[in-house]
Amino acid sequence: MIFPAHSSRRYFLSLVGTTAASSILLKGCLGNPPSDSPTTTTPTNNAPAADQPKPEVTKVKLGYIPIVEAAPMIVAQEKGFFAKYGMTGVEVSKQANWGAARDNVVIGSQGGGIDGGQWQMPMPYMISEGKITTNNQKIPMYVLLQLNTHGNGVAIAGKHKGKGLSTQIEGGGKALFSGLKSAGTKFKAAYTFPSANQELWIRYWLAANGINPDTDVELLTVPAAQTVANMKTGTMDAFSTGDPWPYRIVKDGIGFMATLTAEIWKNHPEEYLAMRQDWVDSHPIATKALLKGIMEAQQWCDDPNNRAELAKILAGRNYFNVPENVLLEPLQGKYDMGDGRVIDDKSMGVLYWKDGAGSVSYPYRSHDLWFLVECVRWGILPKAELANFNAQIAKINREDLWKEAAKELGIPASDIPTGTSRGIEKFFDGKEFNPENPQAYLDSLQIKKV
Ligand code: CA
Repeated sequence: MIFPAHSSRRYFLSLVGTTAASSILLKGCLGNPPSDSPTTTTPTNNAPAADQPKPEVTKVKLGYIPIVEAAPMIVAQEKGFFAKYGMTGVEVSKQANWGAARDNVVIGSQGGGIDGGQWQMPMPYMISEGKITTNNQKIPMYVLLQLNTHGNGVAIAGKHKGKGLSTQIEGGGKALFSGLKSAGTKFKAAYTFPSANQELWIRYWLAANGINPDTDVELLTVPAAQTVANMKTGTMDAFSTGDPWPYRIVKDGIGFMATLTAEIWKNHPEEYLAMRQDWVDSHPIATKALLKGIMEAQQWCDDPNNRAELAKILAGRNYFNVPENVLLEPLQGKYDMGDGRVIDDKSMGVLYWKDGAGSVSYPYRSHDLWFLVECVRWGILPKAELANFNAQIAKINREDLWKEAAKELGIPASDIPTGTSRGIEKFFDGKEFNPENPQAYLDSLQIKKV
């Protein structure tokens, strides 16, 4: 089953009700994404540190998708960092897919769902505004922490190897797109959930190379299990994906990696911890305890000496249920791109606590703004909302709670950003995003829908 890419506001409606079908299709795939029966785990160390403030509750349910983005929550659970700060009853719950995570946060843990967890951007904004929920129900959320940077890329079917499809698409590569278009069989590019990171990365990469994602290719939302099958049979040309998929695509001979997101935008924002506002507002101490546990886990994850153990933890049957080796190389920044190119650079792999631009964990408001502006660029959000984004971000992004938790944790002041903006961002094609002037960014782009 393939869901057509959105071309109008009707696509929001098409998102609703696909969860059940997607869940069934996902069953029995390679282990990522998971089976449709969520699993939960309990921490190995249940003793809270004596000097910690007592949280209002000790229980919470956090959802995750089994990709490297989830590592900080899983490590906080496995290494007892949640428990250390008094959160002895955290459930880290595997979600069948992004649609299921959305549906579960709408019902909340009291209804058998989740209180929050891992999200692509700008899902927490769209859920808060009721833009991707059933009956447009608004579930206000807070963005609390960034889980990671990097760890994602664009995979291409093996039949297109040697045609110039890399971070920069060379002349021959461009002819491939126009040839397929004039033959009436447009290049098909897919992602597993629309209007969020994976769609935005593949759109950015194509557009930066002079290929219009709305007219020169066919964009599709495809359940992950189907994606691999379609790439194997040659009916799909590309998909935007996260580790450990790139490794598998190359090792299984299905295709190659044209680019890593780290090559498109070094130190880019990726996925976030966000929770229901009602939960956070009633449990401020517990929220900070969760943040402290995850921050400590992020530091642990970024210690190169822990990466082998991290691969082992994530690969476990209760988490990703994949062979350890598919995780270890990407976690070490080692990518066999499958087209002869090899990347061996820790700074290009997934990072959790610090990167070349400073803090990974801190949720910069300027990054939330980029995701929202990029949605305007592609007609996913109306241009009229541009003027409201900063007010919306001020309500939803709780970087203040991150800073409070960081101070309580004893993070040195030099590692706590002083402002809410990371400043001007630079992309591989020379474009710049100045958070002070999103309109100038939109104006600078040749290919857009706005
Ligand atoms: Ca991702």
